[in-house]
Amino acid sequence: MTAEGGLPGSPDAGAGAGGPAYRLVAIHGDGVGPDVVGAAKRVLAVAGARFGFDIAWTDVVAGGAAIDAYGVALRDEDLAACAASDAILLGAVGGPQWDDPKATVRPEQALFAMRGGLGLFANLRPVSVHPALVPASPLRPELLDGVDMLIVRELTGGLYFGARTEATGAPGARAASDTLPYTEGEVARVARLAFDLARGRRRRLTSVDKANVLATSRLWRTVVHEIAAEYPDVALDDRLVDACAMQLVRAPASFDVLVTENLFGDILSDEASVLAGSLGMLPSASVGTRRTAHGLHGLYEPIHGSAPDIAGRDLANPIGTIVSAAMLLRWSLGRTDAADAVEAAVSGALDAGFRTADLWPRDPALAEACTRVGTVGMADAIVARIGETGGITGAAA
Ligand code: NAD
Repeated sequence: MTAEGGLPGSPDAGAGAGGPAYRLVAIHGDGVGPDVVGAAKRVLAVAGARFGFDIAWTDVVAGGAAIDAYGVALRDEDLAACAASDAILLGAVGGPQWDDPKATVRPEQALFAMRGGLGLFANLRPVSVHPALVPASPLRPELLDGVDMLIVRELTGGLYFGARTEATGAPGARAASDTLPYTEGEVARVARLAFDLARGRRRRLTSVDKANVLATSRLWRTVVHEIAAEYPDVALDDRLVDACAMQLVRAPASFDVLVTENLFGDILSDEASVLAGSLGMLPSASVGTRRTAHGLHGLYEPIHGSAPDIAGRDLANPIGTIVSAAMLLRWSLGRTDAADAVEAAVSGALDAGFRTADLWPRDPALAEACTRVGTVGMADAIVARIGETGGITGAAA
């Protein structure tokens, strides 16, 4: 499960037993956030014990929980703690009790504050399909063969950050507007990151835009092509966003790395997540260019939301958060050894038939070979398999 590939230039920590203590921030957040972050912390602790490093955690309250406790979604001192860390692991924020769209203080302001305040301008979502979960996907199995893509979404520009006017006027004559600005610099930095990532994978980059209609898309396409000259070893193609949305379900295995602007990336990455069979499976990383002593600074979180319908009931699938923690190990801490072991342990648990409710097979014949587990049971099955690969022996579940 190494769909994300490697970031060129990420150093390996290389420390043995008695090695470093990494400083991580945990944001449990709302809803299922505490369930899945708790599971991922257990996995990281066991990985640290196996591979000889410690983790010093700082717990930060953000999102709805912070609104209740402090009246804001993220306090300045907590943003500063995030900035001082080696990386951040987040569950999810939000829930019905804070969902009033007219409220001036909203949980997702914590996410925007971290993206802007920490310079996290790119969101990376690897999408692959574990062979054992092919029956859980709504697509025909033959379409899923070889799916291994990485979506790179620009995260701090475009429509979500442009000037807007809320609806004004009398009913029947109301009008509102949003604007979609991009600068050359914003396009160039995310394009370079995507080209670098493509170099570490199959060297194919698809740039997604709407250049037949939007001026910002024409700037996007021009800048991406100018930067392509620095990467003659990467094959670049352009795709209009509407055609790309179709291709993602008709031939998902045809993609390697996709790069696109904020709104298109938001929509396409959710569409692609369906391929993996459950929202609960997929990880993400938000990164910029800042490096710490160990690697790239970043924020790691599953792609799902706070799932209030199943919160606190030992029902949430923790794999998306656990694989996010593996991405954190690889990219922010340079711990390829531990990242590989965590990903192998997740694969091992799935191969052994452990399934949370969201992954439960519809076909009774397939279900017979599976074991139903909750959040804690899935974490147990993964923890027990860490270190089974690479000549290090762990206890079997
Ligand atoms: P959601 O992802 O929370 O849930 C959608 C569906 O998927 C639900 O049926 C849920 O039970 C299921 N699901 C989600 N995660 C799962 C998991 N780990 N295991 C098993 N099933 C899982 O999306 P939503 O219902 O649209 O949003 C709920 C809240 O989350 C809202 O307040 C929304 O604003 C917030 N949200 C937060 C983030 C974030 O923190 N980054 C992202 C998306 C939504």
